Amino acid sequence: MPILLVTNDDGVHAAGLAALARSLEHLGDVYVLAPEREQSACGHALTLHRPLRVEPVRDRWFAVNGTPSDCVNLGVLGFLPERPVLIASGVNHGTNLGDDVTYSGTVSAAMEGLLLGVPSIAVSLVSGGDFDEAGRAAGLVAARVLVEGLSPKTLLNINVPAEAPKGIRVTRLGHRVYSGKIVEQVDPRGRTHYWIGGGEAQWDLLEGSDMQAVNDGFVSVTPVHLDLTSHRALNEMRDWSGTLSSQLRRLGERPR
Ligand code: MN
Repeated sequence: MPILLVTNDDGVHAAGLAALARSLEHLGDVYVLAPEREQSACGHALTLHRPLRVEPVRDRWFAVNGTPSDCVNLGVLGFLPERPVLIASGVNHGTNLGDDVTYSGTVSAAMEGLLLGVPSIAVSLVSGGDFDEAGRAAGLVAARVLVEGLSPKTLLNINVPAEAPKGIRVTRLGHRVYSGKIVEQVDPRGRTHYWIGGGEAQWDLLEGSDMQAVNDGFVSVTPVHLDLTSHRALNEMRDWSGTLSSQLRRLGERPR
């Protein structure tokens, strides 16, 4: 049986992790390597400056004192008996939509899988939704990925609505409208501290976006790649290389 690796960023005891692992059991031997405690919003962090420990939780389940990307690294690069054929991250407690994917430990685990050359999916559920419903959608998409493969350097970011989904839409990432404020408070010792990340999420409801699909009650499946290059800007900046180079040369010629 092929091996599937399941991880998350909510920690090894999260309900969403168990639901995702269950939903993939019909596709192969599911191994779980997940952070021992919650790592939400850790992004793509890797632990490079201290050793990682892997503690067995139960059969084929392991807790790691690290990040989701650490778990994927360990799993793909030798901890598992074989290289996994698929990595699934989630089911995250809460959505990972649009611009927020760069903060997400859930999506970053899939990015790590992609970088290591393993087809990877990330699965997130609107708060209050049904993890088994999310698992069903994930199981379907995972089976399709195993049959058809994925475009090179591409992961799938899946978001599941809270109510029973009306269907599945392939979407693009939406954009967040930043309107949040920082909260400044004074502690009992008179020192000022700050909270970030507060406020209501505002979204551009772009046609065909992940946010719109979830808002309409559909499961959103977004193919995401890691090429952060702005190809439009690259084109617009075509003449920068020449002029900046000669300016740099002139600066170097100037007597100091
Ligand atoms: Mn999370």
